[in-house]
Amino acid sequence: TSYGFRDVPEGEKQPLVNEVFHKVAKRYDIMNDVMSAGLHRVWKDAMVAALNPRKSSDYRVLDVAGGTGDIAFRIVEASGRQAHATVLDINGSMLGVGAERAEKKGLTDNLTFVEANAEDLPFEDNSFDAYTIAFGIRNVPRIDVALKEAHRVLKRGGRLLVLEFSEVHMPLLDSFYEQWSFKAIPQFGKMITGDAEPYQYLVESIRKFPNQEDFAAMIRDAGFSRVTYTNYTGGIAALHSGWKI
Ligand code: SAM
Repeated sequence: TSYGFRDVPEGEKQPLVNEVFHKVAKRYDIMNDVMSAGLHRVWKDAMVAALNPRKSSDYRVLDVAGGTGDIAFRIVEASGRQAHATVLDINGSMLGVGAERAEKKGLTDNLTFVEANAEDLPFEDNSFDAYTIAFGIRNVPRIDVALKEAHRVLKRGGRLLVLEFSEVHMPLLDSFYEQWSFKAIPQFGKMITGDAEPYQYLVESIRKFPNQEDFAAMIRDAGFSRVTYTNYTGGIAALHSGWKI
């Protein structure tokens, strides 16, 4: 069975997404390690290295769909605990786990948690030096709207970075990846959380997401300049970059 996302109209997708992440929130971090065989850590480190945050207390980052805080924590650490990161997510359960982790890491002074929708950001124009979103944009029903919002809240000279699953361009890896994602991941999900359905959704949403070139075009359409991308692990994930100039 699946959540039937294939046929769900755009307007009804968000409640289903919210149910998935509400269900998995407590086990989200361990599932990430299992499902990606630890690779998500490597990709996230590479994303933050690409961002190269300024070591300054007036450097402000917005991490959208920030969930349990993985990207924001890395950015704050990479800035020598100088930068400020706002972790925004539509799901209070995910943010709750993130806030607990932040406390344990002693990072609360550098972080703000905000429950809101990527399609309608509660910030003024030209507010942030960087906008990051990791494995989040494919869950947002209207991606074009979210990208326009990203452009609006960034300062001039601000940077957009999007990490997302993408199209695999490597012989053998692609067939291995198909087997892994369509068979193994929902099974692992069932073993760990007792429920395969949320992971079925995750896999389906990856398949439906635009490939590297098409997504780069969407970023340009939202007004960004100098749009580029880098494939990670043969394109299993890709990092897209754009600038507001
Ligand atoms: N960025 C984190 C990471 O890389 O570990 C979490 C990624 S998790 C796969 C996707 C997140 O997107 C979930 O926490 C979910 O609640 C959030 N999300 C889904 N739709 C959203 C929306 N419209 N606005 C903001 N966040 C959303």
